[in-house]
Amino acid sequence: MIGAAADVLVIGAGVIGLTTAVHLAEAGVAVTVAAAEPPRQTTSVAAGAIWGPHLVGMDDRIERWARVTREHWASSGLARELTGVAASRDEGATLPEFATAASGLTECEPSEVPYGYRSGWRLTAPVLAMPGYLDYLHERFGRAGGTTTFPDKFSSLDDASRRNPRARVIVNASGCGARDLVPDSDVTPVRGQAVVTSNPGITEFFVGAGADPADLTYLFPHADTVVLGGTQDVGNWSREPDPATAERILAACTAVQPALRRARILGHRVGLRPARPLVRLEAEQAAGVTVVHNYGHGGAGVTLSWGCAQDAAALALAALR
Ligand SMILES: Cc1cc2nc3c(=O)[nH]c(=O)nc-3n(C[C@H](O)[C@H](O)[C@H](O)COP(=O)(O)OP(=O)(O)OC[C@H]3O[C@@H](n4cnc5c(N)ncnc54)[C@H](O)[C@@H]3O)c2cc1C
Repeated sequence: MIGAAADVLVIGAGVIGLTTAVHLAEAGVAVTVAAAEPPRQTTSVAAGAIWGPHLVGMDDRIERWARVTREHWASSGLARELTGVAASRDEGATLPEFATAASGLTECEPSEVPYGYRSGWRLTAPVLAMPGYLDYLHERFGRAGGTTTFPDKFSSLDDASRRNPRARVIVNASGCGARDLVPDSDVTPVRGQAVVTSNPGITEFFVGAGADPADLTYLFPHADTVVLGGTQDVGNWSREPDPATAERILAACTAVQPALRRARILGHRVGLRPARPLVRLEAEQAAGVTVVHNYGHGGAGVTLSWGCAQDAAALALAALR
């Protein structure tokens, strides 16, 4: 199949690909997004999703990318500021990474953390409901003149270039797919499973962690739903929800928030966080075109999306000039 007649081909319809595509299309560039999975089947739809770095290689770009994203959401009213608790099983634990730049940080009294937790902080941070947010990005891209082709899987960057001969720039926003597509053996999946329920009236989020990375419990209320988690299984590629894991998530979240006993289960989501020692955001000459890589955002892709899109779009625009 010969792809659409666009100057830029974006591979990937998760939050990273769509945000970069919006940036470029709104700059007047002819852009096509092609992806093996449409937005609502990507890892991005499984995110909770709270603003703050987590499971991502930290370097001096992260803080700026996160700040740009937060400012974009604030100026366009895209995210809801939500208050909640980040708790730890340990006494006097250090503040979790995702919460370090949150607003209104106050240490909890022991009575404010649920049974089983020994310390915590109250904080306020932007939160997004991902299915609707991905729909919004998709529609905004369309309004700016962008086109999409799903499902469309490429075996390599050469394959993508050959099937899209007009594209002078390829943006590689393939998440965990970059492991085979580039190929890049530094990309490792960190599987996350979530349960979605009706919202029985919960208004605050909760994130609880223990010393073991497997000990992660969180819940994020949205308008009519609550996203419950979680898991972080390194190297696990399964996209199938595991019923025993779903039971464990429900039990852990109900222990924290008993109102969930009244909630109905609406669905299950599984995503593969694209972990990498550092986010890869750079341009290189490959497959006969300029390839702008934008992948490896681990557990922070939503948080970094607008900052990374800004930099990736600048690299693509420079190549088109
Ligand atoms: C349970 C869970 C909770 C999370 N919570 C948060 C949170 O609270 N805050 C936060 O900031 N982040 C969170 N994350 C992380 C965030 O979801 C990811 O960092 C982000 O979704 C990565 O986006 P992406 O667009 O790079 O990848 P993806 O969403 O995986 O999209 C990749 C796209 O590339 C396409 N693709 C891949 N390979 C190919 C190929 N060969 N050919 C064509 N197309 C291809 C796919 O089909 C897909 O469309 C969470 C993740 C999980 C799993």
